[in-house]
Amino acid sequence: MTAGAAPVPLWPGRTMLGVLGGGQLGRMFVHAAQAHGYRVTVLEPDVASPAGAAADAHLRAAYTDVAALDALAGGCAAVTTEFENVPASALRRLAGAVPVSPPADAVEVCQHRLREKRCFVDAGVPCAPHASVASAQEAASPAMAALLPGLLKTASLGYDGKGQVAVAALADLPGAWAALGGVPCVLEGRLALHREISVIVARGHDGQVVHLPVQQNLHREGILAVTQVPAPDIDPATCGRAVEMAASLALALHYVGVLCVEFFVLEDGSLVANEMAPRPHNSGHYSIDACDVSQFDLQLRTLAGLPLVAPRLHSAAVMLNLLGDLWFSAGSAEPRSPDWPAVLRLPGAHLHLYGKTEPRRGRKMGHLTLTAVDAPAARAVALQAAAALGLPAF
Ligand code: AMP
Repeated sequence: MTAGAAPVPLWPGRTMLGVLGGGQLGRMFVHAAQAHGYRVTVLEPDVASPAGAAADAHLRAAYTDVAALDALAGGCAAVTTEFENVPASALRRLAGAVPVSPPADAVEVCQHRLREKRCFVDAGVPCAPHASVASAQEAASPAMAALLPGLLKTASLGYDGKGQVAVAALADLPGAWAALGGVPCVLEGRLALHREISVIVARGHDGQVVHLPVQQNLHREGILAVTQVPAPDIDPATCGRAVEMAASLALALHYVGVLCVEFFVLEDGSLVANEMAPRPHNSGHYSIDACDVSQFDLQLRTLAGLPLVAPRLHSAAVMLNLLGDLWFSAGSAEPRSPDWPAVLRLPGAHLHLYGKTEPRRGRKMGHLTLTAVDAPAARAVALQAAAALGLPAF
């Protein structure tokens, strides 16, 4: 096999797999891989790493540390990433020695909002009207008025609503651009969103694509708060179109691995692609408990060249994100544990905590999936869980 080529099936046993990045997505990948009998090495500089704590080995080094990358490549049969902002150069170096998925080129597209939007347009997938704002001159251009009111987003390194500001009037644009650090940005027209959904597809080395059911997502302050599956307010035809678009993007990117595409659903039912994540996604966490093949199983199967089978949703599910805010009662700076017994008493409650010792407001500490026989039952028990935790209803 040539370096970086598709792996022949890497059977479990003594096989070591590698992950770049040490967060909760890596941790859940480690769990899936280990359940199948693989061993996993995580490369992550942070000593307190959710994935590192679960892995068989933890290389504590920067993602750009050449010696550490070579050690990862040397010790692993294939390498994946759990974090889209790993430098593409690190993935390329690894790919010179070992099969890597997703490919560096695809990750590089997803790292940059303008490249991502170009990819949407080239694949015939609608996206929000937008323009590059990369200089003071562009920030002062009267032509930007056509995109207002809008959102100015940094072209790279934005996540969970960070790195973006609302812009109402042309006169506010130069200040907004300066407030974001004067870095390359994208100005997007603000759309009237009816709903938000996401689609997770997995594409194998042979081009086979499978997908999870469409997720309906609710964000609060730019951060995913609730995912519901089946999507309660989205008709099957719209779901089908979203899946087709996600699959066509995976094809356009020559993708291997798990890809999440987030869409806006507008009032007239039309779909607009917002962004892509070249990895499992927070909106797919429910699949661990509600599907017979989870998004992390799919990541493993695509990485190791194992057979891909279409996941089946065996239970309706609602996922509630558990942010660090839940660890603080009003007016107190002293963290306390949320009332886990109250939620674990509920039928179909699956608690996932990521092993992070330091709760902070806005930090993803874990998630709770509520499964039930149908969507109304899952929603009803999720509302009880939300009330028990002090989360708003949805
Ligand atoms: P993003 O970081 O691009 O995923 O944006 C975070 C959230 O902001 C999205 O999930 C939407 O709720 C909202 N948002 C982003 N872009 C737009 C847009 N062009 N129009 C309306 N809402 C948006």
